[in-house]
Amino acid sequence: MSRKNIYPKGCSVKHCDTTSLHLIKEMCQKHYTRMHRNGTIKTERHMHGLTNTPEYRVWSAMVQRCTNHKNKWYSYYGGRGIKVYKPWLIFDNFISDMGKRPLHGTIDRIDNNGNYEPGNCSWVTQKAQSNNTRRNHVLSHMGRRMTIAQWANDLGLKYSTLYGRINKNWPLDKALRKEYYHGTKVV
Ligand SMILES: [Zn+2]
Repeated sequence: MSRKNIYPKGCSVKHCDTTSLHLIKEMCQKHYTRMHRNGTIKTERHMHGLTNTPEYRVWSAMVQRCTNHKNKWYSYYGGRGIKVYKPWLIFDNFISDMGKRPLHGTIDRIDNNGNYEPGNCSWVTQKAQSNNTRRNHVLSHMGRRMTIAQWANDLGLKYSTLYGRINKNWPLDKALRKEYYHGTKVV
């Protein structure tokens, strides 16, 4: 009876001839380190073209502010528990899900308290972002003026829930009530 082979036979990277004993995640140490550091197994030389792309810069900044404690924005992202969807720690996965960036586009999260993950991220142009209702839109109700995010927080509603209601033009007195779910009063 053969013992289960706990180490992969070799590095899964095509054309890798390394036979390092330190195989992690089906990659040799060299490729794993590169993947971990740069989000790609491309060599520094090959990365040169890649790192100059806007997508790469956006991706890199996103990973940094969520994972690097020393990043100056960390407290607003990683420090608040905002994570990057694991497969997206690899640049190639990120770009295949997100596609190419539109001119002057930035990555935007639909739920500002949500993670960087598929379904919660889209490319938006800065102009669209600054005009975006959810950033600037102040809702006045019962003598209180707050942004959608503040209202959601105050009501204990999910931001995306409240945002969806506002987008669907629900009347404010209905939108700003926790007990309404999917348009049906449950309490
Ligand atoms: Zn390798």
